[in-house]
Amino acid sequence: MLKDLLTITKKNYDNKYMKFQGSKASAIEKLELFVEKNLSEYSKLRNFDFGPENRSNVSCLSPYITHGIISEQEIIRKSLSKFSFSKNEKFIQEVLWRTYWKGWLELRPNVWSDYLIELNKIREDYKDNQNYINAIEGKTNIECFNSWVKELKENNYLHNHTRMWFASIWIFTLELPWQLGAEFFIQNLYDGDAASNTLGWRWVAGVQTQGKHYLATEWNIKKFTNNRYNNIKLNESAPPKISEKTYSIAKKDFNNPQKIEGKNLLIFENNLSFETSDFLNIKFKKIYLISNKNENRCIKLSEKLLKFKSLLISDQKERLKNNSIDCEIIDINEIQNINEEIIGLYPTVGENLDYLNINNIKLDFLYRKLDHCSWQYCNKGFFNFKKYIPKIVSSLD
Ligand SMILES: Cc1cc2nc3c(=O)[nH]c(=O)nc-3n(C[C@H](O)[C@H](O)[C@H](O)COP(=O)(O)OP(=O)(O)OC[C@H]3O[C@@H](n4cnc5c(N)ncnc54)[C@H](O)[C@@H]3O)c2cc1C
Repeated sequence: MLKDLLTITKKNYDNKYMKFQGSKASAIEKLELFVEKNLSEYSKLRNFDFGPENRSNVSCLSPYITHGIISEQEIIRKSLSKFSFSKNEKFIQEVLWRTYWKGWLELRPNVWSDYLIELNKIREDYKDNQNYINAIEGKTNIECFNSWVKELKENNYLHNHTRMWFASIWIFTLELPWQLGAEFFIQNLYDGDAASNTLGWRWVAGVQTQGKHYLATEWNIKKFTNNRYNNIKLNESAPPKISEKTYSIAKKDFNNPQKIEGKNLLIFENNLSFETSDFLNIKFKKIYLISNKNENRCIKLSEKLLKFKSLLISDQKERLKNNSIDCEIIDINEIQNINEEIIGLYPTVGENLDYLNINNIKLDFLYRKLDHCSWQYCNKGFFNFKKYIPKIVSSLD
């Protein structure tokens, strides 16, 4: 069975999957290739990590979705143009996991701010800790873990199952705080995202769903890496981490303001495809594309990741110019200098929104229709959210 599956992925293998070029054109190309060649086998193969040379069993679209280069909507539409909803259900569910995590965090923004506060303290405590240094340098005695560290730094991407194993080994075998692992991911992942990452790490640790943690095991890693690693000695019986904190749900409606036309529009790094956004037909005075350097970030990003972001922002600028839309790239520090009326595409909970709040920059925000429609269902677990997926998908048209 596995041999057959491997033949399928190898046959469809195309090294375009692991190349993340900083343009919308390459995102579209990746999406089309995946839908044409690999989507049909997604639910069967998605859990296998065959290695960076053989990635076509998953879409590798997350670096683009995170930056809004392509939206969940475009991806779902494209997949439905190939297969029916029922044949596509698993893929659509995965795409909307991201939307769910986003909404979950929007309703409990203190989970993010508490994470940063804890991180600041732990960082200090661990700065000279040899176990921590060995982990981020890929010098532990766990071979698979070391090779994933290398892969993360080289490719700025890890397979979902590998992220789960990585986080589990970090927390339960290396006994390091999840907060530092989440920081290491955000610093290096091209798709680094406050919601999916923080909540993904919390989930593995057992503090997201209290008392339920994810324990990586040798047999599971062997099976789903197709026996690429041997002799994996892990703590397979650690108890979940405990957090005393509980979070109540904030009351938010995510409605758009009435008066929008004629204002200046700010676009942050999460919405870099204005021409396919819900707001394309609104006449804005000028569009400002906001770049955010490390000096304003609590988590300092790798040079490669900053470069990737900067390419994506420049690519958006080019596309706007080609559509004769007046636009300019400015640093986040320069927002205060814009004297005319401004409105922003909602940056979502994370470093950009933090900057606005810390600097007391009060803006009206525009929310995507998808978020407005989905986030109301993020008050409970994903199992509950799943019930609304057909409704959410049908509302996209
Ligand atoms: C500890 C940990 C940290 C993570 N950190 C991030 C992060 O910073 N940014 C990020 O985008 N994802 C994160 N994820 C989720 C997931 O691993 C990636 O979205 C996925 O691996 C991206 O690869 P892909 O595009 O090939 O996914 P595919 O399998 O092709 O899925 C398609 C899309 O669905 C969404 N998706 C799939 N699985 C998940 C998931 N488990 N959670 C949320 N969305 C999902 C993604 O947008 C993805 O691009 C994390 C998961 C874990 C366990």
